[in-house]
Amino acid sequence: MMLRSDCTAMDAGDPLRALRDRFALPSGVIYLDGNSLGARPKSALDRARQVVEAEWGNDLIRSWNKAGWFDLPARLGAKLAPLIGAKPDEVVVTDSTSVNLFKALAAALHRQEELRPQDKRRVIVTERANFPTDVYIAQGLTSWLDRGYEIKLIDSHEQLPQAIDETTAVVMLTHVNYRTGRMHDMREVTALAHARGALMLWDLAHSAGAVPVDLNGADADFAVGCTYKYLNGGPGAPAFIWVPARHQEAFRQPLSGWWSHASPFTMQSTFEPIEGIRRALCGTQPIVSLAMVECGLEIFMQTSMGAIRTKSLALTDLFIELVETRCSRHPLELVTPRDHAQRGSQVSIAHPHGYAVMQALIERGVIGDYREPHIMRFGFTPLYTSFADVWDAVDTLADILDREQYDLHAKRDAVT
Ligand SMILES: *Cc1c(COP(=O)(O)O)cnc(C)c1O
Repeated sequence: MMLRSDCTAMDAGDPLRALRDRFALPSGVIYLDGNSLGARPKSALDRARQVVEAEWGNDLIRSWNKAGWFDLPARLGAKLAPLIGAKPDEVVVTDSTSVNLFKALAAALHRQEELRPQDKRRVIVTERANFPTDVYIAQGLTSWLDRGYEIKLIDSHEQLPQAIDETTAVVMLTHVNYRTGRMHDMREVTALAHARGALMLWDLAHSAGAVPVDLNGADADFAVGCTYKYLNGGPGAPAFIWVPARHQEAFRQPLSGWWSHASPFTMQSTFEPIEGIRRALCGTQPIVSLAMVECGLEIFMQTSMGAIRTKSLALTDLFIELVETRCSRHPLELVTPRDHAQRGSQVSIAHPHGYAVMQALIERGVIGDYREPHIMRFGFTPLYTSFADVWDAVDTLADILDREQYDLHAKRDAVT
């Protein structure tokens, strides 16, 4: 039987343990929700002060050049690139994940029509269990295009091989599912899509900074992702979009704003796209928020995704083992795959009273979150989660379940 002292011994031998000090975490809190909103890098406060006080307050409009505001989307993209197997000039940090998905999906449909004009491929394959905004964006785009595109929603990853065929234009999947924590095999699914003539668009919202990703290695076509989750960019921080070098010249997206113009300050009346990844931009960015993304990325530069993955799997394995040994009397069901190859960096556990149990955990300082139906989500962020945290979280969970210390009438907040 594992003891707490075993966990503190694991912490003592953890090569990432020093990085925890780079984050401002409140005392008395075990934070297992970095998959939804990453913790604050300590450096973010000084950086925010610098941007607001010096760059905005003092230098005013001169900061677009002097402080490099104008180049920030591309500069941050280059810093993020190694985490997702991209080249530095293939990524920009900009807009939201939803908006980037709109741009990427539209560009993918356009590219497909260009590549195989005779095919009349009109189907977008995705999962019913995908994050809702991804499906909504696809629905919104296709209904506005009004060109006969349809969306095929599959109910399980096992249906992928039969779902992708000669009618498929684009396969659009989220690499790690937000609810179950299940991870697709990026290389295998991309190869399958390509073998059937489809283009492959990945959403990395729960992958970037969570698991090693090799977009170029997998030969993917387009990708988007989030910076406010595992990348610790701050609430609502701009997202990213990846377009590989081989697709950049043909890349056409409908939000052709002035930031994607070849010469934005010549103020021409006709749009002409800029070369390269800036073509994925639209308009002026929220610089204060964008600047925070760098603080999170700088911490990742102190380590590697390999080291992060090793610890992530150790944390999630430990959590599963402790829950199964200490809470075995209770009706808990492990939703996340045990197979490492299929597991992201979260563990989802269903309980008939999942919402009430999660509220009780949060009241006692163990912060996870809840997703319908019945699922308690626990995110594990190796940069700042310790093995002792895992022990203490399960200790609290076991106590709440053993003594039924949860309120079945717990009020539902707007954000769960
Ligand atoms: C978190 C998440 C989003 C968030 O999109 P926003 O535009 O930032 O609201 C989108 N897709 C997936 C798969 C996510 O997990």
